[in-house]
Amino acid sequence: MDFSLPEEINTLKERTERFIRDKILPFEGDPRQGPHGPSEELRRELLALGREAGLLTPHIGREWGGLGLDTRGMAVIFEAAGYSPLGPVALNIAAPDEANMHLLEKIAEERHKERWLLPLARGEIRSCFAMTEPPPGAGADPSLLSTTARREKDYFVIDGRKWLITGALGADLGIVMARNESDGMGPAGATMFLSPMNAEGITIERILDSLDQGFSGGHAVIRFEGLKVPESEVLGRVGEGFRYAQVRLAPARLTHCMRWLGAACRAHHVASQYARHRTAFGKPIGEHEGVGFMLADNEMDILTSRLVIWQTAWVLDQGLHARHESSLAKVICSEAIWRVVDRSMQILGGLGTTGDTIVARLFREIRPFRIYDGPNEVHRWAIARRLMRTGTH
Ligand SMILES: Cc1cc2nc3c(=O)[nH]c(=O)nc-3n(C[C@H](O)[C@H](O)[C@H](O)COP(=O)(O)OP(=O)(O)OC[C@H]3O[C@@H](n4cnc5c(N)ncnc54)[C@H](O)[C@@H]3O)c2cc1C
Repeated sequence: MDFSLPEEINTLKERTERFIRDKILPFEGDPRQGPHGPSEELRRELLALGREAGLLTPHIGREWGGLGLDTRGMAVIFEAAGYSPLGPVALNIAAPDEANMHLLEKIAEERHKERWLLPLARGEIRSCFAMTEPPPGAGADPSLLSTTARREKDYFVIDGRKWLITGALGADLGIVMARNESDGMGPAGATMFLSPMNAEGITIERILDSLDQGFSGGHAVIRFEGLKVPESEVLGRVGEGFRYAQVRLAPARLTHCMRWLGAACRAHHVASQYARHRTAFGKPIGEHEGVGFMLADNEMDILTSRLVIWQTAWVLDQGLHARHESSLAKVICSEAIWRVVDRSMQILGGLGTTGDTIVARLFREIRPFRIYDGPNEVHRWAIARRLMRTGTH
């Protein structure tokens, strides 16, 4: 495995870091942010800055307006962007759009790319990915998928309920996962459908009151009632939905690790500064072993996360199936990053629990990562099952 960075990635990293520091950090206190992320006006303003800096949509091919980075290049740039919660918005690499663009680039037909990928890559529209359902439907166990797609002539009729759907409010495109029966024209299974979110048959029932507050549009409960989707708007092939979900999820888990690693670095920097200057019992608190050890543990968790991301990125760049590696990376990073932010808050004392530093905000944003993109217990279970089956690691 080669750990050296190509010269152009090094230059891009420096440009991104400078851009985040000089142009994006000043927006962190902007009042146009609410419990459901930045307002549309602020989002567009940030995207305009990203565009002007030539940093927009780095993960998508140049033919669609991106920078065409490989996964290792993304690891570096996404981490730099994640230093601010607004960085991924400015670079057009925030979830769920970033992973939806990746899925479209990999699976969609040209006409779907023209219609949806192009404006997404330009930051002109937003999208959502609707898979999870309230109990007893699909959650940690996707096989419980209960939203149905019934074929009638040349279209499908979709009925069901979804929840926790990030960014649905204000999205133009919905990628909807539904279960279809075998009907002689295609196999039974799960299928992904592309639908405009303003189509008749889609109702956003409510926006959930969530712990995290950084995602544009928040997380929605959606009802699908007689939604008609033409057969031509199936993403890829009928019955292949679960396979495509893995095409989306293996890299999507890793890009969450990349962005949140940037956030963990930020929390650690804030805490280290405080530990150097704040004194207690006659010396800077960082010189007390209890605090010094927390700072050292932060350094180790950050390094471990970076190495695991890099290793998984390398596997993906070889074109290999990285389901197992992305499970390992998701668990290792989500827990290491969480520990870094938690320790940083502890080092900051009462200040850490207030809005006077960014750390409290990062603390709220990062906790759900142990649940989404597959709860960590399910990943551990999958890792253990593989070990029991193959007897190797
Ligand atoms: C902030 C956020 C954003 C999200 N965005 C989206 C989105 O855009 N689109 C979308 O479709 N979904 C989204 N989700 C949903 C997310 O993917 C699910 O929450 C996740 O898959 C878990 O499903 P569940 O919440 O139904 O948990 P449940 O299925 O109810 O599971 C509850 C708990 O049971 C435990 N558990 C389950 N199975 C096992 C097992 N085999 N072994 C041990 N323990 C187990 C785990 O601890 C798990 O956390 C989002 C969730 C959050 C929190």
